[in-house]
Amino acid sequence: MRNKSFLTLTTSLTLLVGAGVAMAESSTHGNGHNTQIASEAKQAGQASGGGSLSERVRAIKPASAGHGDTKASPSKVAATAHGTAAKPALGGGHTSPWSYSGENGPDRWGLLKAEYEACGKGRMQSPINLQGPAVQGEVDIEFDYKASVLQVLNNGHTFQVGYGAGSGISINGERFELLQFHFHSPSEHGRDGKRYPIEAHLVHKNAKGQLAVVGVFMESGAENIALMEMWDHMPMQAGASATHARVAINAGDLVPSGTQFYRYMGSLTTPPCSEGVNWFVSNKTVTVSRAQIEKFLQAVGGENARPLQALNNRLLSGPSLNK
Ligand SMILES: [Zn+2]
Repeated sequence: MRNKSFLTLTTSLTLLVGAGVAMAESSTHGNGHNTQIASEAKQAGQASGGGSLSERVRAIKPASAGHGDTKASPSKVAATAHGTAAKPALGGGHTSPWSYSGENGPDRWGLLKAEYEACGKGRMQSPINLQGPAVQGEVDIEFDYKASVLQVLNNGHTFQVGYGAGSGISINGERFELLQFHFHSPSEHGRDGKRYPIEAHLVHKNAKGQLAVVGVFMESGAENIALMEMWDHMPMQAGASATHARVAINAGDLVPSGTQFYRYMGSLTTPPCSEGVNWFVSNKTVTVSRAQIEKFLQAVGGENARPLQALNNRLLSGPSLNK
C-alpha cells in the first residue's frame, strides 16, 4: 500500500536531524512555502543557540537494539509450528530491571543503569504530545509490506509481532526494513493533549542501523479486524513466544490508508531510550474494541506507556490542525 500526504517539507531523513538542517535543505527548493519553513526553522535554530547543529548530529546515534528492550529478533522467536514455546525468547528469562510503575518506573529509568542514562538526561526523548506543529509538512512514505507468518512474543513489557524479511518502507527513497511491531496502552504519544487506548509501533531499520517507527493511534470503537488473528494468538505470559506458520498477517492492515504523518526526531520509548529514532505518527486513527484493549492489558500486566517527554528544541512537522 502507499500512503501519501499532502505538503512538502523534507526530502531526506538525515536532513531532519535539526532545525538548522531543515533550513539548509529548504534553500534548495526556493518556493514560498519553503521560505516560510526556512524562517521558522531558523527561529528554532536560534532559540536553541544557533550552533546546535553539530550537537544535534552527534546526538543522533544509531540505536543499537531494536525498539524496546527485547533482545529477541524476529528470526530468533522460537519456531514451534503451532503453539506456545516453553522457553522464553529473551534468553535467561525475564530479568529486565525497569517497569512502568513503582521503584523502577519511568521517572527512575535513567538512574537504573549507566546505559539508560539517556532516559533521564536525553533532550530528544519520546513520546511527545503532537500539537501545533511548528511546520506543516508532507512526509512521503511508501509502504511495501508483504504478508508474513505470524510470530508472537510477550516480552513482559509489550505484545510484539515479529515480521518476516522483505517488507519495509521508503522515506524519500531511503529503505527501512520492517522488523516488528508492538503495542502500548494507553497511547504513548498524545495528540492535542489526548491519549488513545492503544498505539501501535511499527519498527523499521535501515542499512545504517537507524530506526524509523510508524505510530498508529487506536481509539475505542469497533473491533479491529486486522488485529483478530494476532489477538487470538497473543501469549498471555511474559516470556512466551510462538511462530504460527499457517497464519499470515499483513502489517499494512494496521496503517490507515491515505493518512498523513506527524514527524519528529525522538528516541526509543523504553530503556535504553536511545535517541536518533525517526518518528512518524499517523494523523488518522483506527478503532479497537473494549475486549481487545482488555485482553492486551491483561497480557502485559497493565498499562505500558511512558509519560510524555518535553519537545525541547525539536522540530515537529505535521498535517494542518484544521484538517
Ligand atoms: Zn513502542
